[in-house]
Amino acid sequence: MNLYAERVMSQLTELYFHEPEYLQSVRAWLEMIDPALDDPRYEKLDLLTRMVEPERMVSFLVPWTDDAGAAHTNHGWRVQFSSAIGPYKGGLRFHPGVNASVVKFLGFEQTYKNALTGLPIGGASGGSDFDPRGKSDREIMRFCQSFMNALYRYIGADTDVPAGDIGVGAREIGYLYGQYKRICGRAESSALTGKGLTYGGSRIRQEAAGAGAVYFLERMLEQQGDSIRGKRIAVSGFGNMAWGVCKKAGELGAKVVTVSGPDGYIYDEDGVSGAEKLDCLLELRAGGADRVAAYAERFPSAQFFAGKKPWEQAVDVAMPCATQNELGVDDAVRILANDVKYYVEAANMPATAEALKLLRLSPKIMTAGSKAAGSGGVAVSALEMAQNSVRYSWSRQEVDEKLRGIMSGIYDASAAAAEEFGLGCDLIAGNDIAAFRKISEAMIAQGL
Ligand code: GLU
Repeated sequence: MNLYAERVMSQLTELYFHEPEYLQSVRAWLEMIDPALDDPRYEKLDLLTRMVEPERMVSFLVPWTDDAGAAHTNHGWRVQFSSAIGPYKGGLRFHPGVNASVVKFLGFEQTYKNALTGLPIGGASGGSDFDPRGKSDREIMRFCQSFMNALYRYIGADTDVPAGDIGVGAREIGYLYGQYKRICGRAESSALTGKGLTYGGSRIRQEAAGAGAVYFLERMLEQQGDSIRGKRIAVSGFGNMAWGVCKKAGELGAKVVTVSGPDGYIYDEDGVSGAEKLDCLLELRAGGADRVAAYAERFPSAQFFAGKKPWEQAVDVAMPCATQNELGVDDAVRILANDVKYYVEAANMPATAEALKLLRLSPKIMTAGSKAAGSGGVAVSALEMAQNSVRYSWSRQEVDEKLRGIMSGIYDASAAAAEEFGLGCDLIAGNDIAAFRKISEAMIAQGL
């Protein structure tokens, strides 16, 4: 690693030794952008320090009462990572595993994810250690309102625009936005994205994350002289991202053969596609039990593998769609042994540092990271902001075409940088370098 980068990393490690996810994501990124670091301006302007730490971060308490009247206190965070190319932008995650380290890693990755969408959005993230599992609708509403009572002063259409992530979907965004409007006394539509269609949301937003990842894959295959048609894809998770990947892959003639949960994975040789199976995924998610086993009871073409991960299946494409560090060295070894040709990350930082290294450095598999393939959701969020700002609403077809174009553009920028630096099929580094250059130029242009 470049000496300056090494120094920045060791300073960061000293300051945040208790924040493993955050350090892991920064370290991986510094390794990726290493070939592009020989410009003396970076050190002179101390650019890397300013890129690896958030510009601002707030933490707050979120007190709320459950249906029985008992009081609970959760923690909330918003990390405003970078405003280099636009207002802070990124999701909110409600999950018991959320902490300062997780929101910082997410905000860091979001900045680079947003940069290549071609739309003027900075990077942010946030969330709470609140566990939505088993909560009633009214409890969710009260929690979201309390969360917004603390958050409203930091966000706004030109300041910071939150959206959903794990545990935060259209329902939660509705409650959050309603409370923001009540407090501020104005319908500032683009203060939040992922809104319902009846009050300023964008068409396609719900499936955008998964559809974007599949459009990225489609472009990647096309550029290799290959095609997405007939490809067998292993997916992990069964949330919004996995659902969107299954839906779009089916539409483009590919077949997703696995989905997974904390209880194990489903193998469905006929493919997880068609309205009934897709609705089943939504029902399993809405049920709140965080289990996928019931899918196999409903569809005879499916088998359930308790306690196992989908990476043991020999497929053409592996697409992790669940959460951080879900894929370890053993899984990476299996993926390589099974001759999987493409590894495309849809979830944020799904592989451990060691697993990622194995996959990236193997010439047998083409790799693309979530900062590229995972950008579909936020890209449509930025389109939602654009529509809100002109009080207009594009048709499905218009949004879909724009999304496809954006994802192709991200692939092309990543592939061009990979080619320039002789990185072969490592699009993860290609993407990080392209995004790094864009953000660093924007920062340099705007002075210290
Ligand atoms: N959390 C989503 C992502 O990772 C959405 C962010 C957004 O729409 O602002 O991209």
